[in-house]
Amino acid sequence: MQYDCDNAFYKIIHGTIKANVILEGEHFVAFHDIAPKAPVHVLVIPKGNYADYYDFMENAANEEIIGFFKGVNQIVKLMKLEQNGFKLRTNSGKFRLNDEGGQEVMHMHFHVLGKSTEE
Ligand code: AMP
Repeated sequence: MQYDCDNAFYKIIHGTIKANVILEGEHFVAFHDIAPKAPVHVLVIPKGNYADYYDFMENAANEEIIGFFKGVNQIVKLMKLEQNGFKLRTNSGKFRLNDEGGQEVMHMHFHVLGKSTEE
């Protein structure tokens, strides 16, 4: 899939729009979802230009893939989700059969959803 730079997450990475960033690493940025669907709802995105999960896994270098998923786990730890459990979700693709992907922002991202143990 062709990557289109005109999307909110590309703009967050490049500083043209602001996000509530929690953590940034060499290969990822993690920030609070603007419309949270759980007490903890963090989005983790790779810094490279990948439209969706399939594109990322097909085309990213191994270092980027490892760096990204290590970043996801850093968020799990930071948000203290490991004890009670958590959900990871990615919607991949907008225009697949019957709109199955359901992805809205066409820059690959994982949703980290949970309820912090610190309440
Ligand atoms: P998806 O349907 O998987 O593409 O999810 C996109 C997610 O991005 C939704 O949960 C939105 O609430 C969230 N979102 C969209 N724009 C922003 C933004 N500028 N900052 C933070 N979250 C956003």
